[in-house]
Amino acid sequence: MKAARLTGPNRIEYLDVPQPVCADDEVLVQVKSVGFCGTDVEMYRGTMAYFKMGWTQYPITLGHEWCGVVVECGEEVTEFSVGDRVTGDVTIGCHRCENCLRGLYNLCLSKIEVGLCRGKDGAYAEYLTMPARHTFRVPDSVSSEEAAMTEPAATVVKAIRKAPFEPGAVCVILGDGPIGLLALQAALACGAGKLVLTGTVDAKLQLGRELGADIVVNVRQQDLQEIMEDLTDGVGADYVMEASGSVEAIQQAVAITRMGGTVSVVGLPEVPVPEFDMGNVAVRDLNIITSVASPNVFPQTLRLMGKGKIRTRPLISHELPLSETAKAFDIQINHPAERMKIMLHP
Ligand SMILES: [Zn+2]
Ligand SMILES: [Zn+2]
Repeated sequence: MKAARLTGPNRIEYLDVPQPVCADDEVLVQVKSVGFCGTDVEMYRGTMAYFKMGWTQYPITLGHEWCGVVVECGEEVTEFSVGDRVTGDVTIGCHRCENCLRGLYNLCLSKIEVGLCRGKDGAYAEYLTMPARHTFRVPDSVSSEEAAMTEPAATVVKAIRKAPFEPGAVCVILGDGPIGLLALQAALACGAGKLVLTGTVDAKLQLGRELGADIVVNVRQQDLQEIMEDLTDGVGADYVMEASGSVEAIQQAVAITRMGGTVSVVGLPEVPVPEFDMGNVAVRDLNIITSVASPNVFPQTLRLMGKGKIRTRPLISHELPLSETAKAFDIQINHPAERMKIMLHP
């Protein structure tokens, strides 16, 4: 089969590789669509922490946001049939360690991540294998390109579920990338009363408005803190999700949250946040809640997508054949203002 394989730092090759063989508890999936993720760039550059930690090495086939069709079921698999359209978790847990037994399989002590670590090849390929227990059926009303974004959508659904979130809350989502625009829809689906989206690219903010944001703020041109003070009579936002990964945004998130409110951190800043005033956070009784990965939320997320509460189609800015993965890296790295989600088709 064909696969776009990362064979070294900054080296992606479109190669013939052996088709994977499914184990007794796995399904073999023919990949229809696979989304390009920012994490893939870290893997490409070799800056991903997993390299230093010894969890991953080249060569590896990337791709953890995918949708495909089951073409073969392992002997023990009873819950899927050939022809089922499916997507799957990014993390594969051992289901035996302390964290897995707590349900935290995203933190499995020997975790495998599809297309990211411990040699588990991902979906930048014609076929991939997945344990049936981490595979989920896609509703008929969700297309394969749309379903390939279930994983990032599940990431924000899980983040919202982890933090205190009240119906009617004044919410601010910081970040106009795919995660930010998925988060705004998930927050609205969970009953946000007022939704403010911030970012730096007007076209992306406009898309956010079309997807339901009440107010959009370009932080390069407008003063977010002033806008929030006016909007809330100086009280601050109930719930702020940081989805940009920028250090300034974390400081901004803390500044605009009301006393007793919640800051949910989904973006991963690449450097430590300087002069973080923990005393101020404690005195104001803020909840600062981080969230990583997307365990235990795929069925719920797929139901929200099936009902049109989370729409992923508008976030796809580019569609390319898998053979043009190198071009996808160029767009992702060199054209950040124009791209949103790049979708590859094997
Ligand atoms: Zn991703
Ligand atoms: Zn485990």
